[in-house]
Amino acid sequence: MEPSAIGNSELITQVNRRLVLQAVRTLQPTYRAEVSRRTNLNPATVTGIVNDLLQMRLLKEVSGETKAPGPSGGRPPMLLELNSAARRILAIDLEPNILRVALVGLNLNIVDYREKVVNRWSQPATVIKQIVQLAEDILGNDNKRRIYGIGLSLPGLIDRDLGILIGSTNMPRWRNVPIRDMLAKKLGQTPKVERTVHLAALHEDWTDTTGELNTKLVLALRTGIGMSLISRGELYLGAGGFEGEVGHTVVDLNGPQCECGNRGCLETFVSTDAINQKVKLAIENGKCQAVSEALADGEILRPELIYGLARDGNEDCAEIVREVGYYVGLAAANLVNLLAPDKLILCGSIDLADELILEAIQEQVQLRSLPQLRDHLKIQLSSALEKSPLLGAAVLVVRDLFELPRLSTYTTSAALPSTDY
Ligand SMILES: [Zn+2]
Repeated sequence: MEPSAIGNSELITQVNRRLVLQAVRTLQPTYRAEVSRRTNLNPATVTGIVNDLLQMRLLKEVSGETKAPGPSGGRPPMLLELNSAARRILAIDLEPNILRVALVGLNLNIVDYREKVVNRWSQPATVIKQIVQLAEDILGNDNKRRIYGIGLSLPGLIDRDLGILIGSTNMPRWRNVPIRDMLAKKLGQTPKVERTVHLAALHEDWTDTTGELNTKLVLALRTGIGMSLISRGELYLGAGGFEGEVGHTVVDLNGPQCECGNRGCLETFVSTDAINQKVKLAIENGKCQAVSEALADGEILRPELIYGLARDGNEDCAEIVREVGYYVGLAAANLVNLLAPDKLILCGSIDLADELILEAIQEQVQLRSLPQLRDHLKIQLSSALEKSPLLGAAVLVVRDLFELPRLSTYTTSAALPSTDY
C-alpha cells in the first residue's frame, strides 16, 4: 500500500466503522454515548458512523428503559444493537462421527441447525456428498445468494492456505483431500477453513466481552481430543500450523496401541472409540445394563449416550465418565504447568455429564499442577458446549466485518461490503 493511503479519509471512515461495530458488539445493547467512550471517537463522529451503519442495516435501534427519560426529560435515547438478521453465515463442523451444519446470524445466533451421524471410515467423497446435502437442505435453493460466507471446521491437520485436509487419525481414508475447493464447486462459494480446536478457541475469545487480555486454553473433547491456546487474542500456531495434538501425548507408557502408531496416548483412553470399547467390555461383564437396553431400543453407541445415563444417575456409566475425567485431568494438569492459562475451557459433548467430568478434571489439576499456576485458574465449560467449533466457523467468516485490517491489507478492500445479504 502507498503510505499516503493511511491519511485517506475514506480509509479512516472504514476503520472507524469497524471500531464502532466492535464496540456495539461487545457492549450491546448500548447507547451512542457509551460507544463514544469505548472508542474515544467524538460524539458527532459516532453519530455519523452509526447513521451509516443503520442505513447499511448492520445496526438497529431498540427502545431503552421506557421509564427513564432522556437527558432533557424527553424521549429516552434509543439503544443500539447489531442487526443479527443482516448477515447469514453457513457454518459447517465436520467431526469424524457427526456432521453439524447451521445457518448463523451476525450475533452468532443459530437460525437453523441440522446434524447427521457419519461414518469416520467412509470415503471422503461420500462424506462431502453428505455435507452438500445437509447444506442444501438448510439453505434451500433460493437462499444460496443470501449467504454472506461459509465457515468450515475440520478435524486433524490442514493446509489452511490451500483448504486441504492433510490427514486425521480419526478419519483414516482422508489423505490430502482438497475439501475447500470441492465444497466451493458444489456450494457456489469458497469456505474459509480452520481446524476444529482453533475454532473452538476463536469462539471462546470472540464471546468473551470482558475486555480482559487473558490466556485461554481450550480442550475439545470429541471423537479425538485437541487443544488450542489463545493468548491476548492471538492463536498460538506451531510450525506448519500444526500443534495442539494433546490426544497423542502419552499418559501410560504401557498403554494400548494408538492409531498414530504410539502407545498409551491420551486418546486411547478418552476418544469416542476408546469409550465405546470400554462400554462394550462392561456389557460383556454384565455391567451397563441401561446401555444394553438403550441400544436394543435403537440408540447408537456413542459417548453422549453414556454421559446422559451417567448424569441420570447410572453408576456404571458414571464410573466410565469419571475415568475419562481422570485421564483428561492428567493431561490438563500437565498443560497448566506448561502454559499457565487464566482459563481452561472444555468443549465437546461432555456438558451432558458436566459435574462428574469437571470434578474429576479439577481433582487432577489440584493434585498435579503447581499452586502458583492453578490458584488463579478458572476451569469451565464452553458456553456453546459441543457447538463451540461450529460457531467458531461462523466467527471465522464474520470477524472480517469487525476487525481492523492489518496494515499490509489496508487497501480499498477495507471497505465494508455494502451489499445487502
Ligand atoms: Zn496417538
